Amino acid sequence: MEKIKVNLGENSHYIYIGRRIEEIGEIIRNGEFGEKFVILSDFNVYSIYGEKIKKSIGNVREIIIQPGERQKNFKTVLRIINKLAEFKINREDTVINLGGGIINDIGGFVSSIYKRGINYISIPTTLLAQVDASIGGKTGINLPFGKNLVGTFYQPTFILIDFQTLLTLPYRETKQGIAEIIKYGVIKNEKIFEKLERIKKDEINENLEFLIKESIKIKVDIVEKDEKERKGIREILNFGHTLGHGIEISDIKNFSHGDSVCLGMIGESYIGYKKGLCSREVYLRIKELGKKFRLLNSFEKINFERIIDFMKHDKKIKKEKVRFVLPERIGKVKIGVEIEDKEILKILKEIKNEKT
Ligand code: ADP
Ligand code: ZN
Repeated sequence: MEKIKVNLGENSHYIYIGRRIEEIGEIIRNGEFGEKFVILSDFNVYSIYGEKIKKSIGNVREIIIQPGERQKNFKTVLRIINKLAEFKINREDTVINLGGGIINDIGGFVSSIYKRGINYISIPTTLLAQVDASIGGKTGINLPFGKNLVGTFYQPTFILIDFQTLLTLPYRETKQGIAEIIKYGVIKNEKIFEKLERIKKDEINENLEFLIKESIKIKVDIVEKDEKERKGIREILNFGHTLGHGIEISDIKNFSHGDSVCLGMIGESYIGYKKGLCSREVYLRIKELGKKFRLLNSFEKINFERIIDFMKHDKKIKKEKVRFVLPERIGKVKIGVEIEDKEILKILKEIKNEKT
């Protein structure tokens, strides 16, 4: 068990790493989280873990929603808020987010606006949510115009990471988190990257403790320095996501977030190599790693003109040029590299002719 403090002034909180969800009752009885608790979860997660938490806490209500990105809308938010009101939840009471990134985003958002903000606890149950979505206090929902266009920065009271919950996660979800862990390796920590290179795909579960802890430390460090994404420090987390986001929104049904980020990291490392920032080996290593973990690594079906159009509509992009985070080596990246569309297109077209 390890406890990491996220230092954010009055929004500081702890991440309990390696605790069991059955311990939640004991943890909350030792703190001041109000009298009432409401679990927010989706049907899949709740059917596996709901009873365990209920047994541990005792008197607790629940709000269960359908799984899926489509739930991140105002209608679902309103439904949840009405339930909270019906349950007479007050400012001092607490919502418990039990689920993946989607529950985290909606639950955090609801908690930030209901009665001008109530407490919430995060229990992320996907690898992606444990290493990424649950840390940093970003909450949000989607609009027909795009993902996460409405949201808040709102920190939880604490986060509980139970590695055991990942044992019921299907591999197609696990690999979504692996893409983010590869990203952490490239931007800050060569050891994470090398560990992933050394192990076989099927050995991932035995190594998750180390990988999750190291990933969380990186994310916490960045969030502490730039909580609200205003100083440009948090931008480092966009590695693989500039191109990746364009790919994802160009065809959301066929490209999962992890696959898009993996393609984004391969493409951006290729741009880094062509711009003379890193060696060709960096690009090849990222590509190989993605391939080993069954993440997408081929650009064959990608229409780069279309992707660049989508990238430019991204809320993160200013002016005519596109800003990238590009690798210098594994473990170190350069932030804010601006490149013109034409040049991006020229480089990315070459990637299609690469043999490996
Ligand atoms: P992400 O963290 O990738 O955004 P989601 O919240 O979309 O994840 O969850 C992905 C899918 O995995 C959903 O269908 C969800 O119900 C399911 N899920 C989440 N956690 C678990 C778990 N620990 N075991 C089994 N299924 C899970
Ligand atoms: Zn991501």
